[in-house]
Amino acid sequence: MSQDPKISPEAAEVAAEAMRHLWWLRDAGIREVSGERTAARADSPVAAAATRPETAPTTRSAPAPAAPAAAAHALTDKGCGSEPLLAIRTGLGECTRCKLHGGRTRLVFGVGNPSAELMFVGEGPGADEDLQGEPFVGRAGQLLTKMIEAMGFARSEVYIANVVKCRPPGNRDPEPDEIEACEPFLKAQIAAIRPRVVVALGRFAVQTLLRDTTPVSRQRGRWREYEGVKLMPTFHPAYLLRNPAEKKPAWEDLQLVMKEFGKTPQGRGT
Ligand code: URA
Repeated sequence: MSQDPKISPEAAEVAAEAMRHLWWLRDAGIREVSGERTAARADSPVAAAATRPETAPTTRSAPAPAAPAAAAHALTDKGCGSEPLLAIRTGLGECTRCKLHGGRTRLVFGVGNPSAELMFVGEGPGADEDLQGEPFVGRAGQLLTKMIEAMGFARSEVYIANVVKCRPPGNRDPEPDEIEACEPFLKAQIAAIRPRVVVALGRFAVQTLLRDTTPVSRQRGRWREYEGVKLMPTFHPAYLLRNPAEKKPAWEDLQLVMKEFGKTPQGRGT
């Protein structure tokens, strides 16, 4: 499929329409559908992905199953719990837009509530995330979950995503071309979720979203704005594991976020 990183609203709508159709068929218990093309524009990259057969026909007389590879993949992925998010995931497909695709086990799209009021953005998957296909499930993830819960939220209430969706080899930093290829999808996720607040975790999230290369230590704790959404820059949980003394200022940042939601800390970090 085409590797144009931009998803046009038209392509996203085509993918959403295809998914509505497939959901309906699945809910109706239909496992195979005819290979006829739907109204999807054949020249659209998303439509192309969305009409690629998933498997070969099982018998000569049986029609080719038209369950789309990328869309079927998206159905089993985490973080696609709304039509717009599913359309974005479908647009990503089996992404090969940057060199990170060669080393990944699984593309890590996101996880959580598709209508979350609070969203966290990290850097990119590590080894655990790459294996499980879910962001922030390793040591840093465990700390992030504790931070979320200390704020008075359940992990399932918020949405979590990363700047890059595939693991950089050896957990190296993501490179500018990799960030550039992946950023439109993060931007689309934020637009689809429309959270009240985004918490940007660490250098890559803060600097990518804000286009500001000032160190996080000088940006943290001050409200910023990203595409009309309030954004709080703070330290990355992995950094906090290495620098426990910074947990106090990070907690102060999160308390500002809690205040935004009318939540008060309960005997923690004060
Ligand atoms: N660090 C990140 O930035 N994201 C993850 O998903 C895991 C660790």
